[in-house]
Amino acid sequence: MPNPKLIRPLVRELHPYVYGEQPKIKGLIKLNTNESPYPPAPKVLAAVRAAVDGRLRLYPNPTAQVLREKLAKLHRCHADNIIVGNGSDELLALATRCFVEPANVLPASLRKIKLHSELPARCRQHVVQYFHPSYSLYPVLADIHGAARNTVPLKSDFSLPSMAELKRGRIWNFRAALTFVTTPNAPSGRGYSTRELDALCKAQRGVVVLDEAYVDFAGENALKLALKYPHVLVARTFSKAYSLCFQRVGYFVGHRDLIAALHKIRDSYNVNGLGQIAAEATLDDLPYYRANFKKINATREWLSRELTKLGFRVLPSRTNFILVRPPRFSAQAWLQSLRVQKVLVRWFDRPEVKDYLRITIGTAAEAEALVNAVRKILVWR
Ligand SMILES: *Cc1c(COP(=O)(O)O)cnc(C)c1O
Repeated sequence: MPNPKLIRPLVRELHPYVYGEQPKIKGLIKLNTNESPYPPAPKVLAAVRAAVDGRLRLYPNPTAQVLREKLAKLHRCHADNIIVGNGSDELLALATRCFVEPANVLPASLRKIKLHSELPARCRQHVVQYFHPSYSLYPVLADIHGAARNTVPLKSDFSLPSMAELKRGRIWNFRAALTFVTTPNAPSGRGYSTRELDALCKAQRGVVVLDEAYVDFAGENALKLALKYPHVLVARTFSKAYSLCFQRVGYFVGHRDLIAALHKIRDSYNVNGLGQIAAEATLDDLPYYRANFKKINATREWLSRELTKLGFRVLPSRTNFILVRPPRFSAQAWLQSLRVQKVLVRWFDRPEVKDYLRITIGTAAEAEALVNAVRKILVWR
């Protein structure tokens, strides 16, 4: 057995990110990790297949040049405003390393501070800030980096506190080195208006990452803020809406100077070649995906109505999942009962959301199967 001291104390004590389960059980309806129920477009599959030959021995383009040019055209900006990552998760980690100073140089008393308005100005470069609940990877990234974290609660309906509330609360740090905002929010599904995000960005002194992983299912997006403010980055991914989780491709849009800084610290060949080809082909077939968003949104509204009729409290969603509060039994008991019925959903063991289940929107047939399973459980138990 190796000496535990071979491993840095920070890593020994780290609570890692908890993944959604990826079971391979036959007939299981998988509604737990927000994947699209629809396959990539036929042209995307064909493009990937056509690329599987002797070229696999070559390194891919180091900057995903063609993909960045296509994305620049789509977003009406320059390829220098874009960096592509091995999933947007990689870029969120890079942002933490690029914009935040590790805090282990600070005395312990300053690392545990509660009211961030009392944090001395010289400490702000150590702070990663995010709302809670939101994407549970952010605190893990801060911990890995040894940064200070500032976790600020959303309102009880998962809406954003107003500027006045943030100022009054004195917990929010307007000078945090890095602020992550999941918009629309996960796990609640709640959408935020570009107007309120603009006000938030305008008030921040540090870098703000607007994580728009689910934005294609919402009515609006805040991409223009990344081109308006030099300290704002918008994160997008091909994973969820574009059926490419397996390929790991995400990107940031923002000011060329921030993007150039991120390029300096990424791995030389961070985006695999087949992923680049799949993402490029995806951008050539956007109508296929837009039709999928419509189907998913329609299924979301149908499922929300049906579950409401069965006594569930369904929060309004602008994403491809819904957060629901089930009736009669605990959410955890529902998780188990649904699993017995071969439907896998997600439950989070955290106080703010432990009474809820997060359900990914699948196909119409999967939604019907879920409703039938719920009916059975309500009759039997
Ligand atoms: C899924 C997800 C991501 C990560 O996406 P990848 O591109 O697959 O790494 C980022 N942010 C949020 C909020 C997500 O839900």
